[in-house]
Amino acid sequence: MAVLITGIGELTTNDAELGKLRDAAVVVDGEVIAWVGSAADAPEADERIDVDGRAVLPGWVDSHTHLVFAGDRTAEFEARMAGKAYSAGGIAVTVNATRSASDEQLAANLRRHVDEAAKQGTTCLETKTGYGLNVEDEVRSARIAAEVADEVTFLGAHLVPPGADAESYVDLVCGDMLDAVAPLVRWADVFCETGAFDEAQSGRVLKAARERGLGLRVHGNQLGEGPGVRLAVELGAASVDHCTYLSEADVEALAASDTVATLLPACDLSTRQPLAPARRLLDAGATVALASNANPGSSYTTSMAFCVTTAVLQMRMTIDEAVWAATAGGARALRRDDVGFVRPGARADLQVLEAPSTTHLAYRPGVPLTAAVWRRGELLTSGFASKR
Ligand SMILES: [Zn+2]
Repeated sequence: MAVLITGIGELTTNDAELGKLRDAAVVVDGEVIAWVGSAADAPEADERIDVDGRAVLPGWVDSHTHLVFAGDRTAEFEARMAGKAYSAGGIAVTVNATRSASDEQLAANLRRHVDEAAKQGTTCLETKTGYGLNVEDEVRSARIAAEVADEVTFLGAHLVPPGADAESYVDLVCGDMLDAVAPLVRWADVFCETGAFDEAQSGRVLKAARERGLGLRVHGNQLGEGPGVRLAVELGAASVDHCTYLSEADVEALAASDTVATLLPACDLSTRQPLAPARRLLDAGATVALASNANPGSSYTTSMAFCVTTAVLQMRMTIDEAVWAATAGGARALRRDDVGFVRPGARADLQVLEAPSTTHLAYRPGVPLTAAVWRRGELLTSGFASKR
């Protein structure tokens, strides 16, 4: 069935030729976008929905979450807000809770968070394993993630399990664990950071994953300058995420590569780190994505709008740069071109704002502006009465 969405005051397409349209319309046919153009030229459709001048943009593409988990880290957050420093070690708390949870509990928790994100406009979501840290629990996490998320990343190299020997654990990740998980995932990732995995260990994990045909992602340069960005660029990773502390050489390497710099402002705020240098990256010509890093420890939010607002108000990205980074940028970080755009052939993932333009995402910080969401052509939520 074809649905005509018309009366669009401002349509962000992210398409180089279509650009940003005024008084626009979109036709959704099944799961894909069939037509985009001026409302005056719109074709007939089976159903007509008038959004009465509201802004429409692609659904958010959240390219970085950790949502296969159980338990809670409120106490750690409270301690941090009282002045205690963030360290990678807190991950172990979630590992214990995740291992103790049933499959049903993990799946229900994941679905709850994906639904929470969808109501706020996120229509394509990546999530990671990494709270199992043994073969059985990493496989289980990947299987549960694959049932719910659009993209799944293996993050067995999230933390050396407490009590384990680091080199032996890297051997396990590069061997039996990757063998068991690889068929279930598209991506592999490593937490290349002081307190997690060093450059040599990270390189081993990434190369072992690449040999099994997986795409690469890296957590790097979160808590200080380090080898993460360099390693990601050298190995052709699709994305290096965090990028909070960058040397000039890191910025130049990113600008000269296809590796996306994925910035996670909610995480930087929640861990009391400086915000990532978005302006330096953009001015150098690097590709920037914004993602939530939703996880129970360092960034417990699914709100991409919050990330966009922060990027504009505090990281000096323009509205258009921030919206692109949270939609097409996320798609680029996942090496996809079927999401993050509003153009014929793209997946029908749309967000309607309770506002006339995307500017309001930063102009009205904290106000829930998601008025309606289509995911794969299905109207998930609609908070306004449409004129039909
Ligand atoms: Zn992360």
